[in-house]
Amino acid sequence: MKIANVSGRLALVSDEGGVDVAAASNGRFGPDPQAVYGEWKAFREWADDAPSRLVAPIDVKDLGAPAPRPAQVFAIGANYRDHAAEAGLEVPASPATFTKFPTCLTAPFADVVLPSETVDWEVELVVVMGMRAYQVSPAGAWDLVAGVTVGQDLSDRLVQVTSGGHFSLSKSFPGFGPTGPWLVTPDELANPDDLELGCRVDGQEVQKSRTSSMIFGVPELIARLSAVLPLLPGDLIFTGTPAGIGATRQPPQFLRPGQVLSSYLEGVGTITSRLVAAPH
Ligand code: ZN
Repeated sequence: MKIANVSGRLALVSDEGGVDVAAASNGRFGPDPQAVYGEWKAFREWADDAPSRLVAPIDVKDLGAPAPRPAQVFAIGANYRDHAAEAGLEVPASPATFTKFPTCLTAPFADVVLPSETVDWEVELVVVMGMRAYQVSPAGAWDLVAGVTVGQDLSDRLVQVTSGGHFSLSKSFPGFGPTGPWLVTPDELANPDDLELGCRVDGQEVQKSRTSSMIFGVPELIARLSAVLPLLPGDLIFTGTPAGIGATRQPPQFLRPGQVLSSYLEGVGTITSRLVAAPH
């Protein structure tokens, strides 16, 4: 199953387009794309035989973030060995966890304002939780996931090294968290633990890897995070980025106004952000 946020309303997605959930369910489920994660199990059951009348074409410009207002956003640093090596970081013994404050989340095809000349890309698989998870084991962890989507953990590298050693602010400027184009449930994926992901800047490939190269895979991340605190329905986990960021290139390469950043995840889709200059 795929679901999307179409102009702020929850929709079921098929090859033919989108079905507005509030209309098709006669109000059993509301239009708010975030609220559905609070009753995920019931929604999955309803969606199995949801009426496919009322299907309408989707204009990608109308898509919003599949989970636009999560209570918590977790992000994991240095979770691919090749990226840890290029960044000169030790392979962590436990997930290097920070947050992207939720106001950074934006639509999958939105313009993103560059606040500085040191903004870098990080393509990531993003998990959306479908159930509360507290002190769970890796074995059943995928069953607690609503689905996955494509994300960019955009990062201001100068702020990253001038924030007292903490990553969260540098990764939380408005627009620094594009996600989408929709949420895909794990059962739709041939192997949710082994998906190709990558990104391109103006069509040139800069990152390409597989999620099976993560140091802590999705089930292990859910177990480790939930060992400390409950993960809530609708929460996001940005699971880390592979090698190929701009900051560690020679010379360093950062995003410039007018460039287009396209990011993909196998079995899910592609999101495209256009970078624009900050207004003076
Ligand atoms: Zn990241």
